[in-house]
Amino acid sequence: MTNRQLVLLLLLGALTVPLAAQGTSSAKLEPPDVYAFPATPPFEPRYQHDEKRERIILNPDFFCSVCAEEGRIKFKSRDEMKDVLEQTKKFPYPLNDGTKERHHGRFRLMNRPAQDVLDFIYSKKQKAKNPVFIEDPQIRLYADLPGFSTKKFTWDRRGEELQLLSDIFPEVSEKTVVLNPHQHAHLYLIRAHRLLREFSWMVNVDAHKKDLEYLGPYLGCMEKFEIFIFQKKKNLDDFLLQHLGAAGEDGRCWHNLDDKSMATILHGQNLEDYEIMNTFTHRFCYNMLGGYRLYQYDLPAWVVLGFAHVMERRERTDFNTFIFGEAKVPDLPNVSKWKVHIRKLVVKDDIPRSLPEIADIENVAQVSVDEHLILWSLMSYLMQQDLQKTGVFFNVLKEKKEGESTRNNVIRALRTAYGVSIPVLWEQWREWVKETYPAV
Ligand SMILES: [Zn+2]
Repeated sequence: MTNRQLVLLLLLGALTVPLAAQGTSSAKLEPPDVYAFPATPPFEPRYQHDEKRERIILNPDFFCSVCAEEGRIKFKSRDEMKDVLEQTKKFPYPLNDGTKERHHGRFRLMNRPAQDVLDFIYSKKQKAKNPVFIEDPQIRLYADLPGFSTKKFTWDRRGEELQLLSDIFPEVSEKTVVLNPHQHAHLYLIRAHRLLREFSWMVNVDAHKKDLEYLGPYLGCMEKFEIFIFQKKKNLDDFLLQHLGAAGEDGRCWHNLDDKSMATILHGQNLEDYEIMNTFTHRFCYNMLGGYRLYQYDLPAWVVLGFAHVMERRERTDFNTFIFGEAKVPDLPNVSKWKVHIRKLVVKDDIPRSLPEIADIENVAQVSVDEHLILWSLMSYLMQQDLQKTGVFFNVLKEKKEGESTRNNVIRALRTAYGVSIPVLWEQWREWVKETYPAV
């Protein structure tokens, strides 16, 4: 399919919305698996600060409501920064209707004018204690989390994240113990960018420039990634009810149909920062993969859920997020050690459905809780072999041919990336689990 046909298909808009019921559960802290992502690039300050009043950033590439209030940036409103925050994308060739370019980054949230959404969140009724809204060229983020102690739990990325925060906040250093609510919000923007960078490397965005020429500038999405982190579960519920007409879960991964953007929505009530980071990572990764090269159809559930679990459990293994689509949230697994549990199922040959049986299921609601553990492990196996092969696998899944069934698409993607069939992968994975996963 050519890019033009692709764009046309999009305009017809035969899209579904992933309505995702979600829950979380705790487990034992097993050592996270390690994946061969490139090392974090060496820290290079991005911002210049005023020599006399150090807190002032002279070259902000973001608007932040609190930075504006505190005079850290000279801009008082988001619209004063339009030239930084919005962009016009020119096409190499005009579309059939003569369109040569498209404007992106309009001030939108949840398919609506962003100000309406912010007015709702900032209304007195919500009683949000520490609201922060930040927008940069790729992301819009709202968070009202409290501050937290960076020494309270083991945190591998602590040094690197504090360094990045110190670029914005001269008062922060690698020795800083307590981060305030404002800094906490910026931290999530930093985390989102790390995930975007790692994902872009994995799928080799540079090699897919041609595929992205007519798509949006946000990994292919037409509008920016949206992130909402509410401290109070009640505020999350009010927000979901107001904007999506339903509430009750721990969060949502949402595709905004008209704006063609992805929203990551969660709460932080009664959660430590590492738990919020885990569930944020799960949901944001689910959205990156769904939105990459534009959300056009559902990917196989085992792939998108497996990837989200891998990325979450790469941070910590003792807090896990589950996305069940339109299904009711079932009882979550009371499994303390995932690997031991999976190995038992494999050895006893007690897995309800094999990969050949579930390979083309698209609806995440049809995946059982036990199967979540299996598909985490399957995707972990693929990603531990070679992350860039996984990236090729994702890209072929995003290039479904006209009339190609999901099963045939999976077969073609696995063959192209790893040179295996579905049954061969299943057998290889079973052997790998027996050999490498602990029995107790
Ligand atoms: Zn700020």
